Amino acid sequence: MAYGNFAEVVLNIPLNKKFHYKIPPSFANQIEIGKRVKVPFGGRTVVGYCVGLTNISDVKTLKDIIHVIDATPILNSKMLGVAEWMANFYFCGLGEALESFLPSVVKRGIKSRTVSVVRLCKDGASVTEMISAIKKRAPKQARVLEVLTEVGEITFPELASISKCKMDSVNRLRDRGFITLDKREVSDPLFAGKHFEKTCHLSSTREQEVAIRLIKRKLRERKHSVVLLKGVTGSGKTEVYLQAISEVIILGMKAIVLVPEISLTPQTIERFKSRFDRVAVLHSSLTERQRSDQWWDIKNGNADVVVGARSAIFAPLENVGIIVIDEEHENTFKQDTSPRYNARDVSVVRAAYENAVVVLGSATPSLESFYNTDIGKYECVTLENRVGHKPLPKVEVIDMRREIFKGTGQKQISNYLELSMKQSLSKKEQVLLLLNRRGFSPFISCRRCGFVLKCKRCDISLTYHKKKDAVICHYCFFDGPVPRECPDCCSPRMSFLGFGTERMEELVRSRFPQYNLLRMDSDTMRGRDSHEKALSAFRRGDIDILLGTQMIAKGLDFPNVTLVGVLSADTIVNLPDFRASEKTFQLLCQVAGRTGRGTKGGKVIVQTHNPEHYSITSAALHDYDGFAKKELEYRKQLYYPPYGRLARVVLRGKNDQEVKEKASDIAEKLMSAIKLSNGSLLAGLRKDKIGVLGPAPAPIVKVKDNYRWHLIVKADSFKSLHTIIKSIENENRNSKKVQMMIDVDPYMLL
Ligand code: ADP
Ligand code: ZN
Ligand code: ZN
Repeated sequence: MAYGNFAEVVLNIPLNKKFHYKIPPSFANQIEIGKRVKVPFGGRTVVGYCVGLTNISDVKTLKDIIHVIDATPILNSKMLGVAEWMANFYFCGLGEALESFLPSVVKRGIKSRTVSVVRLCKDGASVTEMISAIKKRAPKQARVLEVLTEVGEITFPELASISKCKMDSVNRLRDRGFITLDKREVSDPLFAGKHFEKTCHLSSTREQEVAIRLIKRKLRERKHSVVLLKGVTGSGKTEVYLQAISEVIILGMKAIVLVPEISLTPQTIERFKSRFDRVAVLHSSLTERQRSDQWWDIKNGNADVVVGARSAIFAPLENVGIIVIDEEHENTFKQDTSPRYNARDVSVVRAAYENAVVVLGSATPSLESFYNTDIGKYECVTLENRVGHKPLPKVEVIDMRREIFKGTGQKQISNYLELSMKQSLSKKEQVLLLLNRRGFSPFISCRRCGFVLKCKRCDISLTYHKKKDAVICHYCFFDGPVPRECPDCCSPRMSFLGFGTERMEELVRSRFPQYNLLRMDSDTMRGRDSHEKALSAFRRGDIDILLGTQMIAKGLDFPNVTLVGVLSADTIVNLPDFRASEKTFQLLCQVAGRTGRGTKGGKVIVQTHNPEHYSITSAALHDYDGFAKKELEYRKQLYYPPYGRLARVVLRGKNDQEVKEKASDIAEKLMSAIKLSNGSLLAGLRKDKIGVLGPAPAPIVKVKDNYRWHLIVKADSFKSLHTIIKSIENENRNSKKVQMMIDVDPYMLL
């Protein structure tokens, strides 16, 4: 045996551990690193990944491998390296990390579906003769032959629906030698019948030219590097990606492009499809067969460019030359279930294995990435201007505390916003309205005693949804009837407080009855194509006012939008999250970027109760650098990322006391890990740079009847953060009583 007697196998369990198995002689020629195997484990047969071969094992009684599944390795050594990094960085199981590289449909395999194809096999004259001969006696068979005379060949389901025949008619005709019946595999091609008009490179602007030249130079050096492409909305970042990718293909390499799921529209895909021949797409609204086909296409080397959402970072490409992350600041690149990875950070690691270039694009880069350019880890190129030097829209901030609402009976739409809407709409221009809160009203409260209706299973106020006539919890999706009286004092005077998009829709319709309004949020956009249909209708001009949650803030490019109204900038600012200001700033810049893209110019009106807040004042001036400077100062003072590094540990269970005790127990272990390594970790550091915050009840105390306590671990680097977390990594995370979750570099702190 050339490589070894034992296979190192990783299983999909939350343990960062490799198990040894003996390789029986019959598999000696088949076993290879990167193949899947079947092995016995805990009395069952499970699927694992062979990640190494060795001659040494200190385990005495080893079990045999039962089966080698793959004919060729399904994972290469670079992918194994990335998975290993993920397991160590995010404290997930190595098996869990490896599983990320295989979509579940590929793991399961997809049953091929076949269909019967009916084909005529006699010449025209004898068929005509036959038809008249059997017309009376067997009209169904005659009808089948008539249909086939016209089309020659047809699938049985289609034939059955046209001729109303059954299978036995078809069988008779076959027995008589008039037709043949064959099985054919059903396919579900992704771009069936679509034609993509080929486009050429646009002649780039001076700013684009600088960016493209820098990236091309990096590509030719074949050295791992990261470039932050900081370009205002409409500055033509996509054209930079396209020209860089074209260079990658010329150099014989491949490209991965990640975009937030919501921006993965047919328009986005078309921009890549029409520039390059071999483009594969991976996103959540593909059918299973399409996803499987796309994955195998990539795996078999039939794609040069993969465009996809977060998980496409794991696309089975060989020889990756560039990884583009568009809108790199987006939180959707962070997965909120295990493995809790951030695709942006995984991309940098994957690129290191591939000697590839990472391009992070954004109008409002994350402070982490911006800071990395500051300290020289990443390079930065800036596109300061919109293509064609179109000005960025003017942003006006309305102080809602001072607004006087004269006789309109409402307090949501300021006089100035209403007036501006009238002006735009009367010129047949379009208006976007952003309200980042769905449902009708976010609070239901008793007017007598002040009781606020909360979800019984979660500690969250219930939102009233009018169309469903129900109260819904946005965390556990509980829905129930609207109480007719206060559960606390029985007063019948329950009132609906606050505005969600559903209520705002009623209000805007009542103020603008002669215009077409469409509401776009996750309640109205349930169907597979609903999002796309809505955008097409808006593009055609069938809709005058588009009202929605942050769904409408992303990537839309409609030249006829001349007004953007932000109904409340305050929905995020007040969240208990150290990124609240950053998120507010980003959302405002994004939504502002939706206007002024045509020749008619554009205006943005931001309504807020916090008009002095720097996230709002900086967004109004389109001043990213100013915002970043202030925000970084604040982060530095409190030692939040990118200065300090955080991990969050959440404990949850049915019994509050047990959860609390476990949380204290974990806190103690973490603290003693800090003390143990005192010398190395704390040397020369400010005391507040390393530590454990909490345990405290999580801001959302209860979810789905589970009490939640959390701890925040803070350290001066990921390295020391990892040293500390290591002390609890082998705790039982799935105990029946209290479950534990570790989230390194968390984005959700609620
Ligand atoms: P961003 O992603 O930076 O917001 P886009 O890439 O969507 O910007 O570009 C904005 C618009 O400018 C698009 O309609 C695009 O086709 C156009 N565009 C980009 N680069 C050029 C160029 N060099 N010449 C002409 N038009 C361009
Ligand atoms: Zn009451
Ligand atoms: Zn709930």
